Amino acid sequence: MLNEDLLAILACPACKSKVSLVAEKWLVCQNPDCQRKYPIKDDIPIMLIEEGDKYVHVPVERLSEMEP
Ligand SMILES: [Zn+2]
Repeated sequence: MLNEDLLAILACPACKSKVSLVAEKWLVCQNPDCQRKYPIKDDIPIMLIEEGDKYVHVPVERLSEMEP
């Protein structure tokens, strides 16, 4: 589980925008032109551009049913 302080300092590595926590296991870039989504595995956010790229086309609504 990520705490608020950590969430506040995390930024999308691709565009430096803020990210928001979704379904407690994804971090979603708030930039509508970016839309990368970063999985949280074993409580560790995987903030890598190539990782975010994999989920660009996955709708945010579907993340809750996906395993990172
Ligand atoms: Zn981004």
